[in-house]
Amino acid sequence: MVAQRGKSNSYPLYPPKNLISQVPKLYGIGVFMTAEIFRLPLGWNDCYVIREKGTIMIDAGGKNKTPALKKALKEIGAEPETIGLIVITHGHPDHVTSAKAFKKLTGAKIAMHHLDKHCLETGEWNKTHLPKPAKGSIWGWFFSKIANPFFANEEITPCEVEVSVGDDGLPLKDYGISGRIVYTPGHTKGSISVVLDSGEAFVGDLAMNKFPLRLSAGLPILAEDVAAVRESLDRLLALNATTVYPGHGKPFPMKTIKEALGR
Ligand SMILES: [Zn+2]
Ligand SMILES: [Zn+2]
Repeated sequence: MVAQRGKSNSYPLYPPKNLISQVPKLYGIGVFMTAEIFRLPLGWNDCYVIREKGTIMIDAGGKNKTPALKKALKEIGAEPETIGLIVITHGHPDHVTSAKAFKKLTGAKIAMHHLDKHCLETGEWNKTHLPKPAKGSIWGWFFSKIANPFFANEEITPCEVEVSVGDDGLPLKDYGISGRIVYTPGHTKGSISVVLDSGEAFVGDLAMNKFPLRLSAGLPILAEDVAAVRESLDRLLALNATTVYPGHGKPFPMKTIKEALGR
């Protein structure tokens, strides 16, 4: 029911379940490794597992997502303990609430940007991080008016963040992944993305592709700073990102973002 496997070039073929595609990578002379990407729709959120030499996970979903995660990991044949790192894209509850439970299940370390990590470490996310409509987005304004009263009381169980990500980001080589964490503020001030060397960008809510947030893939309707969103997306373009894996919705080509930015 949950896991979908894919990579950037396979995007037009989505959404066949259990599509097996592999990204060839060169490690030294003549040694090829493959990275696998699994999309795990855990309720409202899409989390991801990336497996290469090591295994990492992107985002930790809303509350009570552990049974769904266990089922998804079983489907993709991944033992929970193999996950070495959970990268949390930002401090909103739909991305962090199951972090403590996921950490208990997997033993993974948690990585967050230093400007958002207090949301998880203290649980006091709503003092600083209530979602803001993107300036100029009427639907974003309307959506936040409707959603925020429900959202505001979401409780996050505090959990230690072992890896505090700075503005320079973080290479993921130590976790067996050919790629890096990139600082991509805009949706929140401490938002981060993971960009693989092969072009896949896991962006959290820096881009959206799910109803009722958006009717089609594009820029976020919720953002603290729209100029920062555009700069961050430009940063991903400069890193040769080819496919966007959003925190809500199916993957889509970076070309869509390029067009939305008018590039
Ligand atoms: Zn968010
Ligand atoms: Zn979200």
